[in-house]
Amino acid sequence: MNIVQEPRVYLIGRQDVDMATINRFLVDESMTWNTDAASGAESLCEVAGRVCYMSFGKGRKTNAEYLGHILESAHGSVLEHAVWNFVVAGVSRSFTHELVRHRAGFGYSQLSQRYVDESQTDFVEPDIIASDPELHTIWEEAVKQSHQAYCRLVEGLLSRYEDVEDKTMRRKLARQAARSVLPNATETKIFITANGRALRHFIEARANEYAEIEIRRVAVKMLRLLQREAPALFGDYDIVALPDGTEVAQTAHRKV
Ligand SMILES: Cc1cc2nc3c(=O)[nH]c(=O)nc-3n(C[C@H](O)[C@H](O)[C@H](O)COP(=O)(O)OP(=O)(O)OC[C@H]3O[C@@H](n4cnc5c(N)ncnc54)[C@H](O)[C@@H]3O)c2cc1C
Repeated sequence: MNIVQEPRVYLIGRQDVDMATINRFLVDESMTWNTDAASGAESLCEVAGRVCYMSFGKGRKTNAEYLGHILESAHGSVLEHAVWNFVVAGVSRSFTHELVRHRAGFGYSQLSQRYVDESQTDFVEPDIIASDPELHTIWEEAVKQSHQAYCRLVEGLLSRYEDVEDKTMRRKLARQAARSVLPNATETKIFITANGRALRHFIEARANEYAEIEIRRVAVKMLRLLQREAPALFGDYDIVALPDGTEVAQTAHRKV
């Protein structure tokens, strides 16, 4: 049985900007504009905000100044035009159960326990249990027992469904029933697409001392990636260590 404790967060997709077409639009409007934005996402948010007042070439000069004002004035819908794609792995089913409660501005594709065999799965152990040998033994025994039950159930269910000719369907029927005994600790992988405004909301709710530790850790990892990726949209957050060593994110611009 393989035990994991550290979530893996991969930022795998980002937006591209078609500057030639933006310039064609600006020429049609007799306007000119340049940006020093560090990313496609930041350029697109600036374009979106400037369309609202047709302020191309006017007012705030840098992308950071422009988006800083968007954050200060809580003009949040502008941030919905920035979108990123992540893969998160090495996380538990309890984490994804909490994650998918975030609906507005999020899209998900998660590893299927109906199609995918879980006889070789990993399990995610909470740090506090892993750090105590007695608690670790209780946890490991319980997880092993559940997993063994899953494997035996899959075997028994495949026999029960032996008259189902389609092999893929037979396995799916067996796994979907057997998975009912798998613990929340079962490792999973999830593909996440989310916009800038939804991500800010997620970070504020989950990179927070009241949030559960696993989701908090993922939220902080996502924030670190986003701060490198789009500093003008996420640079206002400070990542602060709590006395217990876990981290939270704080900003003066909540609920943009
Ligand atoms: C510390 C903590 C403890 C929690 N404990 C529990 C618990 O015990 N039980 C439980 O069930 N959940 C719990 N949750 C989950 C929580 O209730 C939310 O479901 C979750 O955080 C998703 O956030 P959200 O509702 O803001 O949704 P998001 O989809 O992230 O929505 C973002 C925002 O969009 C708006 N919005 C989204 N959908 C709608 C809608 N349908 N109608 C109107 N406005 C909408 C709201 O303003 C919302 O805040 C907890 C969350 C945290 C952070």
